[in-house]
Amino acid sequence: ATVYIWFRQDLRVSDNQALHAAAKMARQQQLPLKAVYIETPLQWQQHDVGTRQLDFIQRHLNCLQQSLAALGVELELWHCDDFNGVQQLWQSRMQQHDIAAIFAGREPELNELRRDQALIEAGLPLNLTDEHCILAPGTVVNQNGEMYRVFTPFFKRWREIASAQQFQPVKAPVPLGPALSVAEPISFSVATGDSELWRAGEGEAKQLLQQFVANHAADYKQQRDFPALDGTSSLSPYLAIGVISPRQCLATLLAQFPEALVDDTSPGRCWLSELVWREFYRHLLQAYPNLSMGANFNPLGAQIAWRDDQQAFDAWCEGRTGYPIVDAAMRQLNRTGWMHNRLRMITASFLTKHLLIDWHRGERWFRRQLLDGDLAANNGGWQWSAGTGCDAQPYFRIFNPMTQSEKFDPDASFIRKYVPEVRDWPLKQIHHPESRVNGHLFAVSDYPTPIVDHSAARERALDRLSVLKKAN
Ligand code: FAD
Repeated sequence: ATVYIWFRQDLRVSDNQALHAAAKMARQQQLPLKAVYIETPLQWQQHDVGTRQLDFIQRHLNCLQQSLAALGVELELWHCDDFNGVQQLWQSRMQQHDIAAIFAGREPELNELRRDQALIEAGLPLNLTDEHCILAPGTVVNQNGEMYRVFTPFFKRWREIASAQQFQPVKAPVPLGPALSVAEPISFSVATGDSELWRAGEGEAKQLLQQFVANHAADYKQQRDFPALDGTSSLSPYLAIGVISPRQCLATLLAQFPEALVDDTSPGRCWLSELVWREFYRHLLQAYPNLSMGANFNPLGAQIAWRDDQQAFDAWCEGRTGYPIVDAAMRQLNRTGWMHNRLRMITASFLTKHLLIDWHRGERWFRRQLLDGDLAANNGGWQWSAGTGCDAQPYFRIFNPMTQSEKFDPDASFIRKYVPEVRDWPLKQIHHPESRVNGHLFAVSDYPTPIVDHSAARERALDRLSVLKKAN
């Protein structure tokens, strides 16, 4: 019989409880341990997984293959079209070989949960560990045993529970046999994008984490909103596919700021809260499964009369709205596969409020481009921005792209980097593109004039989104 470790989102050997448990069983029962990753191209397509993220996954699988080979464990790539096929695949394996156990980390998304449930019901010996969050979904609830609908009390309860626990990440298992040589690299059957701007490997992610915590975490609160600064960790692509675990992030943070869980004034507190936002959205996804199926968290969201304006949507996607801050952000996304959080809020607000285009379309565009694409955080961020979400920004709070631009990119250095057409404009006009149109009616420029007038768009949004009012 063989013990299997099935890698899905936790593409790492250290602090991997599923791997740890699988290695322990293999060692104790003297059974061979095999590692598996299953590619599911049709499912990826249905879930809008971006080709850049697929490339990042593929590169990490190759790193993982090397790390596992050093432990004497072979990593195999299996193929099937979608999650239905996954069940057949495992069942046919089980008919051919004796499977002692399969270990894997649980995933919070509905199709993934259903896939695992079906395998268990079909009699496969699947053992799931909870490691995509620090505290497992369902364990941070209010006095009635329900999931919180607002972040602040969730964060408070989360800290109470966490401060009573130890967070010692588990080490990579010791080798189970002599090191293996890797014959064939892992290569997906579908074309992947380019993620080379991001270094691959668990070691890289750990180094990034350590450097961020040592050099930037204390200033995070002051710097995190300025896209021109290196003020945030850039760990999201690694966290999204589990190259690093949230527990490793917390343990590293607590090593530097031991009081961060209990002291509101700790310099580590602000970054901690972001790690917990990540958990909040994952817990929500599991508490409200219809979020995975595209539901508005606030059912009144279904009554919003969104505009079907393909031209405006294309301009937004391609960074041609005539608002330099919005366009710089969209070009950063399209070019690098990542966008700064402040800009995600600005562009999502612009699409859903200024252009009145359905948040689902923006969510899908982001997902296809993002290297850190993650259903829970992406859905949570989009619904927060649109005003339809859990603990969302109220529908009547509409980001003003001009003031956001002035406040968060004051010298326009970020904008100038991504929108060269405006590089030589006076600062005031970069932040206030409408003033340029008025002042230079006949000016020739290859940069578009704003596709909507801010004040008119604001009024329109306030009117159409007022259907959400009843719930507030
Ligand atoms: P840091 O500021 O260093 O934060 C550390 C980690 O905490 C991040 O890596 C991330 O895992 C988590 N985190 C931080 N902020 C949030 C947040 N608001 N919600 C959930 N988790 C958070 N994040 C994703 O990981 N994937 C997405 O697909 C995604 N889509 C988003 C869409 C919209 C419209 C919005 C407004 C936000 C979205 N976010 C998403 C959240 C956030 O923008 C990114 O996590 C963050 O910009 C990543 O940069 P960082 O790693 O430097 O973060």
